[in-house]
Amino acid sequence: MSFTIYSEKKGEESSRQYAYRTLRRNILLLDMHPGEPISEKEIATSLGLSRTPVREALLDLCRERLIEIYPQRGTRVALMDGRLVEQGRFLRETVELAILELACRECGKFEIDKLEENLELQRQLAKNGEVIGFFQCDSDFHRLLYIGCGKETVYDAIGFYLPHFIRERMLRLDMFNPYDLLSDHEQILEAVKERDCRKAKAHLKQHLDRVMCDQKILKEAYPNYFV
Ligand SMILES: [Zn+2]
Repeated sequence: MSFTIYSEKKGEESSRQYAYRTLRRNILLLDMHPGEPISEKEIATSLGLSRTPVREALLDLCRERLIEIYPQRGTRVALMDGRLVEQGRFLRETVELAILELACRECGKFEIDKLEENLELQRQLAKNGEVIGFFQCDSDFHRLLYIGCGKETVYDAIGFYLPHFIRERMLRLDMFNPYDLLSDHEQILEAVKERDCRKAKAHLKQHLDRVMCDQKILKEAYPNYFV
């Protein structure tokens, strides 16, 4: 079993939260491959924890459909599910186009400044080639648009799908160009500032098409990783 300890347990974290955070990162970054069996005992030993918090963390990840638990047969990293990703894309596109319409009307100076700050951070991360940091910052940019029109809990609902998008994106890092995404974000924000809803939506549509991976190519390249 491949398993990386990215950081020590933080002071404020419970053992369950530490196990959850470490396991989740391993799954999203594909250190732990889709379909790979998981040993609760080995993870507990690696992290220096008892088995109970590890079991609880695995149950949390099972609810996020990142882990599959089969009584008697064991636990494994969930296979990637193209249908789940496609449904996430559908939900996100439908909702986010509506969010952008609201954002064009309602985003005030405070929110615009926050979005500008986020773009500046994206520029730095792109320049330094920090892929994972860039993914996070990209998600934050979109979350700020939801917050800008008072719909932060709607973003939380869509957040369920994000780890599934990230796993696919990790498989296609060769296709990843942060400057394409950055340019989309800059154009989206420009249109929001101009209150040009039609233009903002066109840029978002192009952006979402770009961030989605081609399921067929992925399945052909990694048949063992998919349902
Ligand atoms: Zn984006």
